[in-house]
Order: sequence, then structure tokens, then C-alpha cells
Amino acid sequence: MNGSKKVVRARKGTATPQRDAIMKRPVNKAVISFSVTALLALLLVSGCSFPVGPVNRSHPFVQYRVTLKDHDLNIVRVRIDLFGSIGKTMRFVSPHGTWDRSPVPIGITALDREGRALSVTEGEGDWIVEHGGKDFSVYYDVVLTVENRYSPDIKTMLSFIDHDRCRLLGGDLFIMPAEAVSEGVVVDTAIFPGMPVCSAWAGTGTRITVPSIGDLPSTVVVSGNYRLFRRWAGQTELVMAIASSWTFHDEELLEVIERIVTSETALFGSSPHERYLFVCDRNPIKGYRGFNLYGVHFTGSIVLLLDTKLDRSQLFDTPMAIVAHEFFHNWNGETLRPRTDEFLWFTEGVTVYYSYKTLLDANIITPEQHRRNRDLIAKRYMENSYLEAVPIGEAVNSDLGDKDLVNLLYDGGFLAAEALDAHITEITRNRIGLIDILRMMYEEAGGTTYIDEEALTAAVRRLSGHDISGFLHEIIHRPAPSALTGTQQSS
Ligand SMILES: [Zn+2]
Repeated sequence: MNGSKKVVRARKGTATPQRDAIMKRPVNKAVISFSVTALLALLLVSGCSFPVGPVNRSHPFVQYRVTLKDHDLNIVRVRIDLFGSIGKTMRFVSPHGTWDRSPVPIGITALDREGRALSVTEGEGDWIVEHGGKDFSVYYDVVLTVENRYSPDIKTMLSFIDHDRCRLLGGDLFIMPAEAVSEGVVVDTAIFPGMPVCSAWAGTGTRITVPSIGDLPSTVVVSGNYRLFRRWAGQTELVMAIASSWTFHDEELLEVIERIVTSETALFGSSPHERYLFVCDRNPIKGYRGFNLYGVHFTGSIVLLLDTKLDRSQLFDTPMAIVAHEFFHNWNGETLRPRTDEFLWFTEGVTVYYSYKTLLDANIITPEQHRRNRDLIAKRYMENSYLEAVPIGEAVNSDLGDKDLVNLLYDGGFLAAEALDAHITEITRNRIGLIDILRMMYEEAGGTTYIDEEALTAAVRRLSGHDISGFLHEIIHRPAPSALTGTQQSS
């Protein structure tokens, strides 16, 4: 592991997941992805900060260990060891603040090294251990069961334990010290004793080293019966952990992923992480209303939950936009984050736009498939019941309950990205496109940055000398703007 490099990249605040569900439509097979809840969560999560300090040996060292307590009930036991405690007490907090998605630690206890019980005071989403300056351990259990597969929990509870394999997401399991701890958090996962684990971070055997405590909630660890593949796409290392049986060969999916990663990384010149873990498994959601394809992006990890009935031909069709979409969030979503809900259209719409463009550029879909898909999106936008009432800058829907509103955000966002790209290309006489603006903002960010209408306008002005504020205002704040509906209204 390149420790020093990771320190530079350590983000303030917890790493923030982007989550998307892609649902195959029974009628037109077009795909839509949505992650509004997640992005609201992202904004919430970003609001609470975890200490990510410079390397400081005087900070306590923390180590986590996860074991299986009850396989039938999906209960795991978490043990947190603290070495080099400072002061008299340590406060632990939930990875998501007081957000209701937080893990619920059951029977939390703390012991010193001699096995004596220490006092633990539970507050509103926090736990204070009175350690008196000694090293100590905290123990608790967590139930990793999602009771209702249609509940919003499915979008966050990504952890899963089967008889032969498990997939764990840090944010589902771990409470975290609220004080500065040393860089390099060891996580030992011994759900299946002796079985090695795999994650986006470096590790050996059942143990991985998470660069900083802020990266813990977004850390995905898999263990057990996964088939592992490793590839290099330029400077970027790809690891694919795949389980279940499919109509395609593992290598065929790997090839698609590799082409997408190569293509998108080329757009930006580099990727935010050196190593990526793609976890592919069957989607546990059953039933006609479920998501057939579901993708989630957590910094260096991308979880793809696919329908086992997914036909091999779909590997060369628009459903693979799920891979391109999640990977594109590396830049637009993770590095460039929307400052407010009003800018979600950009995070999602631009990502949808480039996900299909990537499939086309990487020869995964044909120009004909691309055009047909684009037309379906435009048609659905024109038929949206909110078209004349809600501008895309207000198409925010916190619980994904209103499908039309979600569609307006994604479809309108896609068309807005397309119109914006065309507009920038036109005013700069083919010199600059939207991707050049994104690349510049990514390079300038040097880590994470928050973007909004003003930042985008300023970036276009810096790179091209042109002012797009009027154009942008029109497409974001006016319902059914002519630039998106294709109608030739003069204004
Ligand atoms: Zn998305």
C-alpha cells in the first residue's frame, strides 16, 4: 500500500456512497437509474465529520474484528480494539450520524486488557467508554438481515451472509471513534475462518488495512465462494469477485468492465483510486416490481447485483450502463459532489449521459442501440406528468417513492447534459465539450470538491471564455425548457 499517497487523498468526512438502482422496464426495456435518496444521504453524511488527521503516532491505533455469531439469524459479532488510548474516555459514533440507516449495536460492552468491565454510556447515536487511559476492547452484535426486500433498507444494507460467502459493508456494521485515530485501520474478517478476504484496499489473508477511519463506512469486504479475477486497465487495478451462475462466462463480464474502466479513465486521464473491487452477485430482490439490476458505488468498490436470468446478449446492450454509470460516479459524484439537491440533475443526468456514451465509445453498444435508447429517454421525458410543472433543478424526491419525479430528474438530467454538451461545443466551435469542463474541474479539485450552478458556470468561463449562465438557468429552473423538449420556441 502506498501509505503517503493515501494520506494526501484522505477525505474529510466519511466516504460517501452513491447508490443507484437500475430497473429494467417491462414495456420498453429502457433503463433508469436513481439515487436521490443516496445523494440526500450523501449530503447528510457529508455534514458530519470524522477526524482524518495527518499521520500521528500519538493517536490511538484501532483494529476491528468481525466474526459470525449466529448464521441462521445473520448476527455478526464486532470487536474493536483500541491501543494507545488518550485521555479518560472515548466517544464512539454511528458512521451515519443520527441518520436512521445506522447500524444498531446490540449488547455493547467494553473491557480493559485484564477483562474488567468498563462503563459505557449510551447517548443519542453515540457511546462513551470510560477507559481511564488504558487500552480496551468494545464488543457488540449486529443483525444483518433486511426484513423487507422492498423497504428502503435494501438501498443501504448491502451486507449479506450466505452459507458459502459473505459481503460486508463497513457502514452496516461499524461504529467509529469520534476522536482522531491513527492512519491505517486494520479490519479482520473471520466470518469463514481461514477463508481469505478481498477488498479495494491492500490486505493479506483475512485482514485488510483501511487507509483511514473515514474510509471505513464505504469499505466493502467479500469472503468465501467468489471467483476472483485481477486485471490492469492502464494504471488502474481491477479486481472482480463474482458469485452465482450466469448465462455468460465470467470473463465476458470482466471484459465489458475492463473496456468501460479503460474508456472512462481515458476521458479524465486518471482515476481517483488505484484499485477497484467489482463485486457481482445475484440480486436478492424477487418479484415483478423489484430492481432487476442494481448497482452501488462506494469509493473504490462497485457492487453489481444482477438478475441471474440476464441474457448473455445483455452484456452488449444498454443494461451494462449500470457499470458505466457507477464507475463514472468516481468523478462526477465522488470527486465532484453536488453542493445541494438542486444540483442532483447534474450528478445523475451527466452520469447517465456519459454512461451511454461510454458504452458506445467502448464498442459495447452500436450507434443504433445508442440512438434508440436516447429516443426512449426523450419520449419518456415528454410524457412525464411533471414536465410542465417541475424544473429539473427541483425534481428532488427524498424517498424514491415518486417514480415520475425520479424519471424527471434522470431523463431531464440526461437531456440537459446532452443540450449542455451541444451548447458548449457550438459556442466554442468544436474546441471544447462538456467532458473537458468535467476533466478540468476534476483536475482542479485534487480531492473532493462541491459543485453547483455557479461553479459550473465559472469553470466554463475559465476554460472557454464563454458565459453559459443564461442557458444553464433556463434548463435548470424552467419546466419543459425548449432546449430539452426540442421545440423551437423563440424566447
Ligand atoms: Zn447515479
